[in-house]
Amino acid sequence: MKKPNVINFHITDACNYTCKHCFADFKMKDLPLKDAKKVIDSIEAFFRENEIDNGRINIAGGEPLMYRHLDEIIDYIAGKNIKVSIITNGSRLTEERIAAWSGKVAMIGISVDAINSYTNVHIGRCDAHQTTNDLDHLVKMAEAIHKGGIKLKINTVVSRENLDEDMLSVYKALKPDRLKLIYIHVVHNVNEWPEKMDIIPTVSEYNEFVEKNRYEENCELVLERPMEMQNSYFMINPHGEVYINCFGLEKKYGNSIYESLSEIFSRLPFDKSKFDLRYENEEV
Ligand code: SF4
Repeated sequence: MKKPNVINFHITDACNYTCKHCFADFKMKDLPLKDAKKVIDSIEAFFRENEIDNGRINIAGGEPLMYRHLDEIIDYIAGKNIKVSIITNGSRLTEERIAAWSGKVAMIGISVDAINSYTNVHIGRCDAHQTTNDLDHLVKMAEAIHKGGIKLKINTVVSRENLDEDMLSVYKALKPDRLKLIYIHVVHNVNEWPEKMDIIPTVSEYNEFVEKNRYEENCELVLERPMEMQNSYFMINPHGEVYINCFGLEKKYGNSIYESLSEIFSRLPFDKSKFDLRYENEEV
């Protein structure tokens, strides 16, 4: 079985936002730094044992910028010559922090579902004071990312809440290198709650959103629908546990702090062809 070269490490479940479609289980605690390093060591061994020389660790959450050891972890990964990318809600990004990551972080992905603050509050993309990211902040962060030689990715979750948003003008302002339009994804017992089911668009609503907001100027547009996720999203959670998305269920296969990732991987129903579809053409 072919092996993945991108491992999603959800380093914390803490987040300052409360998105309706979220997967994070806010009850989990942060991983202690020593255990986070063990997970990185395990991924490094996995890449080495499988002769993967273009490996990348994608740090996600929760909100990774709430993880107090994030900078140490970035340095630790970069010190092993493994590429690192970060997925963030963008609220805690600063120009200084981005500049400090230049040369170490290959890509920063910012989740932007809407720019209208009412829509963002309705989605839950806001903090406890209902503060949302405004366009000025996002443009400043995007410029700092481009200036730092870091690739910019924008992720938008398409739901019934943002179908009317003018995202094309937002994408034009941010100039992402990669844009992912994600059909809201429901996973049994993770984010499958009755109030969330109402926000799932029909396939034609999703397609309409895509056509209305299609942005491809020097940008790779990726459409992610549930079928493309199945058996291809390989992740490690804030306990070091290894999961894969399998037919709408999250299945746990082992713990990377205590067991070799190659060993755990041998038990996974991983679909490399779908994985390649998810990550093809990514240059980071
Ligand atoms: S920003 Fe991300 S982690 Fe935070 S609530 Fe929203 S989807 Fe969940």
